[in-house]
Order: sequence, then C-alpha cells, then structure tokens
Amino acid sequence: MLETRNLSVFYGRHKALENVSVQVNKGEICVVLGANGAGKSTLLKAVAGLVTPAPGSQVIIDGRPISGLNSAEIVETGIALVPEGRGIFADLTVQENLTLGAYARRARRDEGGNLKRVFSLFPRLAERRAQIARTMSGGEQQMVAIGRALMSRPDILMLDEPSLGLSPLLCTELFKTLKGIGETGVGILLVEQNAKQSLAIADRGYLLENGHIIGEDTAEALAGDPAVRRAYLGAAAEAVPVAPANSASTRQLSQMAEGFAIRAAEIHAAHIAGLRAVGAAAASTSGVQPNPDAKALAGMAADLAAHAADIQSAHIRGKRAAAPERPAGSAPSSANELSAMASDLAKRAGEIHSAHIRARRAKG
Ligand code: ATP
Repeated sequence: MLETRNLSVFYGRHKALENVSVQVNKGEICVVLGANGAGKSTLLKAVAGLVTPAPGSQVIIDGRPISGLNSAEIVETGIALVPEGRGIFADLTVQENLTLGAYARRARRDEGGNLKRVFSLFPRLAERRAQIARTMSGGEQQMVAIGRALMSRPDILMLDEPSLGLSPLLCTELFKTLKGIGETGVGILLVEQNAKQSLAIADRGYLLENGHIIGEDTAEALAGDPAVRRAYLGAAAEAVPVAPANSASTRQLSQMAEGFAIRAAEIHAAHIAGLRAVGAAAASTSGVQPNPDAKALAGMAADLAAHAADIQSAHIRGKRAAAPERPAGSAPSSANELSAMASDLAKRAGEIHSAHIRARRAKG
C-alpha cells in the first residue's frame, strides 16, 4: 500500500502541495482530479523522488517510509511512474524501450517473464517490437510508456495524464487496459483530466485544488456529485441545494466572478476588433497581415480560463466547507448564481480561445 502523509512541496517560495494525504491499496485504482496547476504532477513526482518534499512530509510504501530515497531507490521499492508526455526514447525500438524499464534489480531476474507479460497485455507491442518508437502512433507510444513502467514489476503504477492527446477510441482502450492492470493486483494512482472515463474505472478519487486535497470519496460518489460534475465533467450548472456558506466569502467570490465576466466581455470585444482589423487588412492587400494583438489575446484568453477554473474550485471549496451545516433543501440563490457565472465564464473563455485558434488557422 502507498500512502502519503502531510506531503508538502515547495518550488522556491511557491507552495505547490500542502499537507496532502492520499492512499492507494493493492489492486485499487485511485484518480486525482484537479484543474491545471493544482499540483497533480507534483504529487506524483514527489512520490517518485523527482522533487524533494518539505520536512515533515511522509511517503510510505507497505509501512516503510521512503522519503529521502532517490528515484532509482524508489523504483526498487515497487513504485513506477509513467510521466506526462510519456518520456519514451524516440530513437530506440519498442523492445529496447521496454528493456530499459527492467533495469531495476527487482525486475532484472525475470526480464524475459516481464517482457512476456507486457506483450500479452499489449499484443500490438509484440507485433511492433522492432519498430523505432518515434514512428509509432500516439496511442502506441503510450502503450510503450506504460509497458516500460510495468517492466520494473511495480506494486504501484502512477500515471500522469496518460490519455492526453489520444483519440476517444484510444482513450477507451487505454482505460480498459488500466482497469485490467488494476485487476492483476497493481495499485494505480492516476492523474487525469478525463474525469469521466477515469472515474468510470476508478475505485476512489481525490480532488486536488491549489495544492490541497479538498475532497475524497468513492469514484461512484464523485461521479454523481453535482459540484464535481460541474467542475470536472462539464455538466451544466444545476440548481442544487447549496449551503448559505460563509456569506462574506460567497459575496467575495461573486464579486470576483462578476469582475472576470466583465473582463471576459472586454477581451471578447478586443478580440473581435482585432479580427475585423485583420479582415480589413486582408481586403486591402494581396497578403494577409498578421494580427499584432493575436498573441496577447491568446495569453489573455488562457489567463481567463485559468481564473475561471480558480473561481470554480474556490466555489467548490466554499460549498464543501459549508456542507456540514447544510439545512435540507436550502438553496440560496447567490451560490447558485455564482456557480452559473463561473461555468458561463469558463465556457466564454473557451469560446474566445477557439475563436482565436480559428482566426490563426484562417490566416494560414
Ligand atoms: P497540469 O494539469 O497543468 O499539468 P498540475 O496539476 O499537474 O497541472 P503541477 O505541474 O504539479 O500542476 O504544478 C503545480 C504548481 O507548481 C503550478 O503552479 C506550477 O506552475 C508550479 N510548478 C510546477 N513545477 C514547477 C517548477 N519546476 N518550478 C516552479 N514552479 C513549478
């Protein structure tokens, strides 16, 4: 069993994780959901020994503290990481990549057996064992990355956004494979943006926001939680009973959301003015003029999306903090309005971003 207790990580003065306690049992799939920058990758890196936890943090595997071990020693304890972006060796063959995963002492003894197990899990890799990894499709490269991690015979497999960049069909295959790996007794700690599919295969889940665990439940309960559905599953704002909460902080959040909505409208207007300027320039010359504001607008749209996500998570935290005193059926309009505004804002930021990308494509 893997456990972190009060795990904190600083990057310089920035606190990326604060007192994070999670647990993954044998054969259990745990998913960590969170917005961009919440600290998900940092959690996996800290467990894998790739970043140094703050004093007082504990990482424990099967009752044995492993904080302070280096990353190679941590692999020997039975923890393997499939990093974001896969990290495979592009110029080596599939089999060479897999064999590199077996460098751990715990795996060297039975390299042949491990390879056989990986090939039975991913028959495609057996067929393509001599192919150069860089020429494989995205989904196949992900199989190589997972296969390589499995070559160290881990008890705990950690994966950082494995579905990133995969087609819906490949995502479905990937999650099915992860479920199968869990059924072999390997515990899985999965960081994912694809909340729907990851919750569908997971046993439990954690919600990580701004470096804090703000919620923990069975995957089934999380998938059915209206706040989780709004924040991570893209569900429309629902009129759920919400606690009166701390009215001061609800008011503050509401004001912030209003401020961002105004800012979103300003950016939208500026963006449209920019597009018009490009259109006018294109009409008056044979070549299309570059839009000087395009880069700045893209940055603003991305900032706005990040702010919208922050508001959404602050809202969820507020709602959760207030939950114990929730009077049955009470539904103050301010919290619902806030939730709807945050969700509109996120949608609007997405629209601005897509308009920007369309405009750039149109410019060629
Ligand atoms: P994403 O979903 O976007 O990958 P994440 O939840 O995995 O995000 P992390 O990558 O763990 O988030 O980052 C958590 C915070 O720590 C962010 O604010 C990020 O900017 C910061 N951070 C991450 N790595 C570093 C680093 N090497 N140096 C400084 N700050 C960092």
